[in-house]
Amino acid sequence: MRRYEYDKDICDGWKSYPIRITGAVDRVSKCCRTILAFVQSMEGGFVTANCLKCGKKETIIEADFKKLPLICCCPECKQVMNAETIEKNYCYVCHHCNLYIRLADLLPHWSDLGI
Ligand SMILES: [Zn+2]
Ligand SMILES: [Zn+2]
Repeated sequence: MRRYEYDKDICDGWKSYPIRITGAVDRVSKCCRTILAFVQSMEGGFVTANCLKCGKKETIIEADFKKLPLICCCPECKQVMNAETIEKNYCYVCHHCNLYIRLADLLPHWSDLGI
């Protein structure tokens, strides 16, 4: 299984895109009772849900990731990919093409939230 990686300039472009992934609609941050946004929380593949008011991180469990109301299509065969965990990182996997994309690569970096 190979990791599908995008060019850093392309990643930086969509990491600044203003649409946020919030997870479950009824989930609010424990600290400020407000919206959480999924972000890449450090270099590598780790993903957290950060409070949009104060920036505090919360954990995303695998079930939250699998229930996200979004799909990712394989960059090669264009079929819908499976949400799976690879080496502790949440990923979208295409078993047909034997490749995966890290969810972290598709999300804003925590610092892109500007909090
Ligand atoms: Zn907060
Ligand atoms: Zn594919």
